[in-house]
Amino acid sequence: MTLDLNFIKKFEDNFTRNVNLSNYSWFNLGGNAEYFYKAKNETQLLEFLQEAKIKNIKTTILGAGSNTLFRDNGVKGAVIKLVNEFSYTKLINKNILDVGAATLDRKVANYAKENNVGNLEFLSCIPGSVGGAIMMNSGCYKNDISKVLLSIKAISKKKLSVIEIKKEDIKFSYRGTNLSDDLIIISAKLKGNEDLKEVIEKKQNDFIARKKASQPTQIKTCGSTFKNLSEDKKAWMLIKEAGCEDYREGDAIISQKHCNFFVNNGNAKSSDIENLINKVKKKVQEKTGVDLELEIKIVGEK
Ligand SMILES: Cc1cc2nc3c(=O)[nH]c(=O)nc-3n(C[C@H](O)[C@H](O)[C@H](O)COP(=O)(O)OP(=O)(O)OC[C@H]3O[C@@H](n4cnc5c(N)ncnc54)[C@H](O)[C@@H]3O)c2cc1C
Repeated sequence: MTLDLNFIKKFEDNFTRNVNLSNYSWFNLGGNAEYFYKAKNETQLLEFLQEAKIKNIKTTILGAGSNTLFRDNGVKGAVIKLVNEFSYTKLINKNILDVGAATLDRKVANYAKENNVGNLEFLSCIPGSVGGAIMMNSGCYKNDISKVLLSIKAISKKKLSVIEIKKEDIKFSYRGTNLSDDLIIISAKLKGNEDLKEVIEKKQNDFIARKKASQPTQIKTCGSTFKNLSEDKKAWMLIKEAGCEDYREGDAIISQKHCNFFVNNGNAKSSDIENLINKVKKKVQEKTGVDLELEIKIVGEK
């Protein structure tokens, strides 16, 4: 689909062609987005979605890219990233927060701490955005976003309207939800517990220290590649059992510290990571009979 000049002019401040997606993924990999749109606010986003619908442009929503592998061949259509007014934190009650979908999880955790709202400490360990955390039902240390969520506000791309969905009407699973691809989450209400800042801070620091001790840092990764089966059967255990820890494909390697973390060692291609994923999946299936399910999202043209 080629776009006419009027369309491009209308959104030119925030709209670019052929944007390299490697800058938007924690793997630091991926080809180009045909179009890249930074949505600054709800009105602009609705206007863009309306035009995209008329012009039949496929849209893909991206958060902080900490769970997304973009393929080398890039992404057709427009990749949308929420910015500016979609990033905010507001205290609307003594223990209820209203947060924008583009807000980073650790900012939410810090804001909650400053306002004596506890039970959101786990968010300081998740390097994504609120929108991504909800879609992925992200969590750690026996907590996840479904346990603290009250409701979301989202835009339906088909209906071009804003809807509010209560937590009770969303089905959450381990690292997933039944929310449709049609929805772009724009904000969420989260409920914590009233607590003392010092207590929250201690818990938060403890979580961060535990993460540092068990997971690699300062590397190009999207965290856990595969979903755990259960507390007793974690994906890393199966990868170890199948003897895959030293597998590599090109410059795509497996972290020595946590073998469910796949890493771009500097010069990998997305296809190397994908080949490594397939190789490990096959071996684990052969050795243990378990069909590992991907936690990371692979996006783009094959
Ligand atoms: C070092 C490291 C450690 C990690 N540790 C953890 C952990 O402890 N626990 C855990 O659960 N995860 C962990 N992750 C994975 C990742 O951080 C989470 O899945 C995170 O919530 C993804 O958020 P994101 O904004 O980066 O999402 P993205 O990768 O940008 O997107 C993920 C999915 O969410 C969708 N999405 C994003 N924003 C929106 C929106 N506004 N509306 C609708 N859909 C949207 C995307 O389309 C995509 O399908 C880790 C990752 C890394 C790199």
